[in-house]
Amino acid sequence: MYDANNIFARILRGEVPADKTYEDEHALAFRDIRPLAPEHILVIPKGAYIDMEDFTARASDAEITGLFRAVGETARRLGLTKGGYRILANSGADAHQEVPHLHIHIFAGRPLGPMLKREA
Ligand code: AMP
Repeated sequence: MYDANNIFARILRGEVPADKTYEDEHALAFRDIRPLAPEHILVIPKGAYIDMEDFTARASDAEITGLFRAVGETARRLGLTKGGYRILANSGADAHQEVPHLHIHIFAGRPLGPMLKREA
């Protein structure tokens, strides 16, 4: 069940501050509080969705389109398209998702290395 007190729900309600970079009807983008790259942005849907599984099962087509348009719009507005960027969404336990409100990470600003560490 969705936890309405998770930190991103509180940011959406304006109870916790965030360094916002983009906002529209369906999505909000803000800077990650512990950045892993010179640019590290989180893009979240405004609806109450736990993870990618929940979102793709229950969200409307407009919400799904809106979230992905917001990712592209955020990257364009921050000038990330020239050097390129990586998006990533952790979904569930094996992915180590920490905050139970769907979020898409955008990383940029330096060469980002291999996609995933290979197992030895
Ligand atoms: P994940 O492991 O994919 O669930 O990522 C959660 C991310 O949320 C981490 O990169 C955290 O640094 C970030 N985070 C947690 N609390 C906040 C906050 N209040 N504002 C911005 N980012 C946050």
